[in-house]
Amino acid sequence: MLYKAHSAAVYGIEAYVVEVEVDVGSTRMNEFNVVGLPDVAVKESRERIRSALKNCGFDFPSPHGVTINLAPADVRKEGSAFDLPMALGILGCLGTFFGKPLDSCLFLGELSLDGGVRPVRGALSAALAAREKGIRSLAVPEANAREAAVVEGVDVFALRSLPQAVDLINSPESFKPLRVDAHGLLAEAAQYSVDLRDVQGQQAAKRALEVACAGSHNIIFIGPPGAGKTMLAKRIPTILPPMSLEEAIETTRIHSVAGVLEDSRGLVGTRPFRAPHHTISDAGLIGGGAIPRPGEVSLGHHGVLFLDELPEFQRNVLEVMRQPLEDGSVTIARAAISVTFPARFMLAAAMNPCPCGFFGDTTRDCHCTPPQIQRYVSKISGPLLDRIDIHIEVPAVKYKELRSQQPVEDSGAVRQRVIQARQIQLQRYAAEKKVYANAQMPPKLIRKHCGISAEGEKLLENAITRLGLSARAHDRILKVARTISDLDGSENIEPRHLSEAIQYRTLDRTYWA
Ligand SMILES: [Zn+2]
Repeated sequence: MLYKAHSAAVYGIEAYVVEVEVDVGSTRMNEFNVVGLPDVAVKESRERIRSALKNCGFDFPSPHGVTINLAPADVRKEGSAFDLPMALGILGCLGTFFGKPLDSCLFLGELSLDGGVRPVRGALSAALAAREKGIRSLAVPEANAREAAVVEGVDVFALRSLPQAVDLINSPESFKPLRVDAHGLLAEAAQYSVDLRDVQGQQAAKRALEVACAGSHNIIFIGPPGAGKTMLAKRIPTILPPMSLEEAIETTRIHSVAGVLEDSRGLVGTRPFRAPHHTISDAGLIGGGAIPRPGEVSLGHHGVLFLDELPEFQRNVLEVMRQPLEDGSVTIARAAISVTFPARFMLAAAMNPCPCGFFGDTTRDCHCTPPQIQRYVSKISGPLLDRIDIHIEVPAVKYKELRSQQPVEDSGAVRQRVIQARQIQLQRYAAEKKVYANAQMPPKLIRKHCGISAEGEKLLENAITRLGLSARAHDRILKVARTISDLDGSENIEPRHLSEAIQYRTLDRTYWA
């Protein structure tokens, strides 16, 4: 007796439909074989399936043997999501469904020993794969139902247990598909628990953050421990424009296949803020594994990647960030496979001004020698620093500022200005490919959109020669000045915009000499 059920496997952030073919009785007694390149978790399915069937009161087909084929047979399958379709295939062979085919529904779910259905990774991608293949409905673990239901055009059924799945097949009329309003879900999920209002003082740093967000510029904070660098960075998502539904779905897919989708709402509605520790490996940062899973750069897609204590990161780890910073995606090549994950994030970094942290602090002594400081700063590779447009010093907050009763602007107000500046940019780059904000301007567009007056020319020349700014700082200054003028609603880049942009090149100046 042969029975077929549909399931799905994840590959990169895509899922593909897997056919689970179950044959009972054609192999030797008591045998239970799974073929079709299963990994260890798939092979362990048989123990879970045996127990689940027995504990739910179904007959396990012993002494008949069971053979299961996962097709296509040449692609490696991992994980435990095939438990449910395998168990259903066995039940089909035993006549539980009276010969009714299972092909109109795609099943996903890990089984617990008592027959409960546990969450799996990649349900949203599986729903997209089902729709593409013309499979009308999807039965998934309850915890994954909302993310799957975001996909229009498929009926999603939430399952708690194996017997419930059997009922769904035998009497579908008594089940209602889960309906979600994706836009409503997004609005509900788009709430931040932090606000720029929580940060006292630091006006200059807040202004730099606003400029960074307005032009999608990468930023680095330089300041002593405890000055509030992390606190500021955490609030970047709150002043970036709200996520579009398309962005939210993309980010949710990545978090779902990585198994880190925390939100029971089923949609990542706030821009991610990822802050990996400096001991992270390159695989942790860009992704890895036998069947590669996304790393931090992809989990931060459409959000912020924050690298605190930047000079402490391994150099080779920082090197691997060059591709995502350049392309907005990352490719992980293995012997047989190569997977590309989206990785478009805003980079925020922080560092102390010197190894002890108190260089330039008026209240603490710093005994670091110039060579020590030089060595510390040079740990950050030039090519990485090259991709950071804005450098801002974050000094320790003075007591007076900390106790100030002055009203502090909230994230919402700053965000409005950011959105306006972004809209100007979206119009400006409407005809360009892959350019959405000033930070992404290639040299050709810098020449086109960053013209400056003779007065501005003089100012810039002065800065570069007198302050000892590097030549490569030149383009960065123009891009940032473009953003500042957009925030100002000004068509032209005025000298005052340039002067502000020049101030954001701390690390280019002979600051530590
Ligand atoms: Zn020091």
